[in-house]
Amino acid sequence: MLRKSLVVANWKMNGSLASNQTWYTRFLLQKLPDIDIVVIPSHIYLPQAAEYLKNTTIGFGAQDIANASHGAYTGQVSANMIKDFGSQYVIIGHSERRSLCQETDDLVAEKTKLALTAQLHAIVCVGETLEQRKANKTKDIIAKQLNTVLELCKNDDLAKLIVAYEPVWAIGTGLVATPEQAEEMHLFIRELIKQCVSSDVANNTRLLYGGSVNASNSANLFNKPNIDGGLIGGASLDADSFLQICMTAKR
Ligand code: PEP
Repeated sequence: MLRKSLVVANWKMNGSLASNQTWYTRFLLQKLPDIDIVVIPSHIYLPQAAEYLKNTTIGFGAQDIANASHGAYTGQVSANMIKDFGSQYVIIGHSERRSLCQETDDLVAEKTKLALTAQLHAIVCVGETLEQRKANKTKDIIAKQLNTVLELCKNDDLAKLIVAYEPVWAIGTGLVATPEQAEEMHLFIRELIKQCVSSDVANNTRLLYGGSVNASNSANLFNKPNIDGGLIGGASLDADSFLQICMTAKR
């Protein structure tokens, strides 16, 4: 089967009403490739995304959700709240949340379950640190991160599961995994899904690469058979660079 390419802009804690408006206006003037394109601004800017992206083919979503549906969780935002503003996607377990907010594999699994139950596309991030790669532990780490999610969610509808392989050493550093390194891990991730869930789910799940992707290196990454698109941080803040990256993702 042919998985539709997907390129996601993770704006992290960047942007403002004015700069986002400029981005949307510029991006929407362009002729877009026939792939899935998704923008992930800060929670506070979701209503603005909904306004600019209505009647377009571009999806949007949030950078995180709480691991509870409602209640005494000051400062947190639930899956249904982001849905209320039209979100279709959510990033879960980004390495910055794992390191800055001490998110564990179990917490990431709980959030994924809530996202899938709310019928959101859950973009689950996994990735190893440089120390772990040097110690030859990359596959053990990825297997633990992903299997924790799959074990909890394997009986849920996984049609909206997306996995992003994002080596921590490549995020925001300018160091990018080689297409061969990334493809090896994507193949490994597909095999993990096959073993834990089914061949069907493994074949249908889109696997994104993230980590210093830019308009010069994206084509070689996206040409690999198991790399179905990208999760783009820094280079997504500029509408023109992001568009160029999207152009290279068409199969
Ligand atoms: C990310 O935020 O997920 C990411 C991959 O960032 P960058 O593209 O800046 O490395």
